[in-house]
Amino acid sequence: MKLVAGNWKMNGDRRGAQHLVESLIARRNAGAPACTVALCPPAQLLGLVGDLIAGQGLELGAQDCSDEAGPGAFTGEISAAMLADLRCRFVILGHSERRQRHQETDDLVARKTERALAAGLTPIVCVGESLAEREAGKAQEVVGRQIQGSLPPSAKGKPLVVAYEPIWAIGTGKTATPSDVEAMHGALRKMLIGLGFGANVRLLYGGSVKPANAKELMAVANVDGALVGGASLKAEEFWPIVQACA
Ligand code: PEP
Repeated sequence: MKLVAGNWKMNGDRRGAQHLVESLIARRNAGAPACTVALCPPAQLLGLVGDLIAGQGLELGAQDCSDEAGPGAFTGEISAAMLADLRCRFVILGHSERRQRHQETDDLVARKTERALAAGLTPIVCVGESLAEREAGKAQEVVGRQIQGSLPPSAKGKPLVVAYEPIWAIGTGKTATPSDVEAMHGALRKMLIGLGFGANVRLLYGGSVKPANAKELMAVANVDGALVGGASLKAEEFWPIVQACA
């Protein structure tokens, strides 16, 4: 089954989140989607959103976790076990905004991935090249290096999601063409199989996915769903993307 995950990033207060989640539940109740749907709100809303979606056929995800198992003296951090306690099923790791703004390395992402799996969460590990890297013809090489460095060998055979998010397509309104996505996802599938991760890793595309382009992107070979940023903040934009998985 495909997966559509909404990454709310640093958006939302309790009132807005309640409104958005209630709108999504109403749409969900009008017809069950053909894919798994995960909401990944910022940390302060995980408890509220978890309570609202309990038993409603929607899943909860976080946007990051600590590389420490904890508990312990790690100010400001949230462990994977704490996220599991909040009923999270997924955690986004190594998003380009964290790699760029917080200098997260492949090695750190690999340690977080191990923690997430140990806590019973399914990691959504993000990879993607910059525009300069793409223009230099290095997109597959860069993404290959990120895959190799960010997935610990212990993740083999475990539930795992990889999101290909070209940095130049995130929040820019620029989307990779279906043929760009097909080429990268095909290469990713081969790399993952070559590294021993098996054919069951779900490969999401992320980068300006909107209702207008979701159907053609979801139909591309080896695209097992979408990681959606901006369009996940409005039910009337997010739900058509979910429905594009049919
Ligand atoms: C993202 O940051 O994960 C993302 C895909 O953002 P957007 O859909 O806004 O490009």
